[in-house]
Amino acid sequence: EKRTKIQEVLAREPIGEELTLMGWVRTKRASKNVAFIALNDGSTINNIQVVADVEQFGEEVLKKVTTGASIAATGKLVASQGAGQSCELIAESIEVFGEADPEKYPLQPKKHSLEFLREIAHLRLRTNTFSAIMRVRHSMAFAVHQFFNDKGFFYINTPIITSSDAEGAGEAFKVTNFELDAIPRNEEGGVDFKKDFFEKEANLTVSGQLEGELAAMALAEIYTFGPTFRAENSNTTRHLAEFWMIEPEMAFYDLKDNMDLAEEMLKYLVKYALDNCADDLAFLEKRAEEEDKNKPQTERAEMTLTERLKFVLENDFERVTYTEAIEILKRSKPNQKKKFQYLIEEWGADLQSEHERFLVEKHFKKPVILYNYPRDIKAFYMRQNDDGKTVGAMDILFPGIGEIIGGSQREERMDKLTERMKAMGIPVEEMSWYMDTRRFGSVPHSGYGLGFERMIQFVTGMGNIRDVIPFPRTPGNCEF
Ligand code: ATP
Ligand code: MG
Ligand code: MG
Ligand code: MG
Repeated sequence: EKRTKIQEVLAREPIGEELTLMGWVRTKRASKNVAFIALNDGSTINNIQVVADVEQFGEEVLKKVTTGASIAATGKLVASQGAGQSCELIAESIEVFGEADPEKYPLQPKKHSLEFLREIAHLRLRTNTFSAIMRVRHSMAFAVHQFFNDKGFFYINTPIITSSDAEGAGEAFKVTNFELDAIPRNEEGGVDFKKDFFEKEANLTVSGQLEGELAAMALAEIYTFGPTFRAENSNTTRHLAEFWMIEPEMAFYDLKDNMDLAEEMLKYLVKYALDNCADDLAFLEKRAEEEDKNKPQTERAEMTLTERLKFVLENDFERVTYTEAIEILKRSKPNQKKKFQYLIEEWGADLQSEHERFLVEKHFKKPVILYNYPRDIKAFYMRQNDDGKTVGAMDILFPGIGEIIGGSQREERMDKLTERMKAMGIPVEEMSWYMDTRRFGSVPHSGYGLGFERMIQFVTGMGNIRDVIPFPRTPGNCEF
């Protein structure tokens, strides 16, 4: 049977047409003569009302039409008298696909906590909040491809299983094909990877960058958009063990070109959301405001969702060196509000999210691009500056989130790169495949990584990164 999506019906309002709608019942109100069924099919945040004549359908059918049940309703679309809806379907036939015991159905028509919903992976997606987030997530993914495609970038898939650890942070998950009870040992008692499937230590990728660089040195402008894995042993609201990353890599780009592209992309994505996800964003904004009412004054958001999106769209991002930022953080210490009390910083330290948010929300009141970080807190591949202390790194900082993008100009000079790798104890010989990029026709190049979930967090206003991915992977949780 042909199904019409509720989204399409509400957009087009084909009054008088005969339609079949299929979806899940949100609520049913029955009077003596008619039943009003609020139906949702996931295509939009809005429900449509299906009106069923009690006498015509009889108790037998209508008692199966309960909250959570899935049905098909065929009938004629008519203009609605009721407030808040423009049209409704007068049912001529109703088919119940799957019943849902109203006593047992976990989604009662009350508000559930996000923590509770995380425990019911399937039905979580059926709530207004999560279906709205997932539609926004879809639109953002689409917009990413659109943005890069319009710019002539090529979408490249980098491997998920790899032997490299681009970030060198020791957060890579190991991949092995050993039987657990028969791990082959070498003479020193260590694991003998030569006997494993890849004959080499393998892990899940922490970043597609190194392979992305190879592609950029051939196709000039590429991007990856794939899953990334990090054994983040911390429970924060902005880290997942499995997340998606967008990583463009560009030959012939210096650090400034890199910043320009990143800023343009972020604004494009925000604008795309405003233009294409209005209903879902309006719902999420209202939701965030209601949540806020239950919080103590000091923890409430200073901007509404729309204001935050405009904050990104309408401001030139402030470009500040790491060294200047440290000076600001040091100076700002005495007049601290409680929210930002740990501002003591020394040159050389990595910034915590609260330092990042202080710079954005309190000091500059703009999105911030911090660049030229100390060499010693950044990865080996970043381009060394002439001061001998800093590298051409850049992080983009957003309100409510902190770091949303990390990027850099890459070290394209073979001698400098080799020297740095040796100093950091990275086996240069084993990375010959990577060194080839500097060996033959090396060029200045740059790139960055955008954490897709952090972007969705920003756009939807969700406080916890676990709530913007359908199936979050965090310490102790890989079941659903
Ligand atoms: P953080 O300082 O927050 O741990 P990072 O500096 O380790 O992030 P990068 O290696 O720079 O992260 O990765 C690029 C981007 O990927 C980050 O700017 C962020 O948006 C995202 N990201 C990094 N780690 C995670 C994670 N565990 N979960 C979700 N997104 C992440
Ligand atoms: Mg990290
Ligand atoms: Mg960081
Ligand atoms: Mg980073």
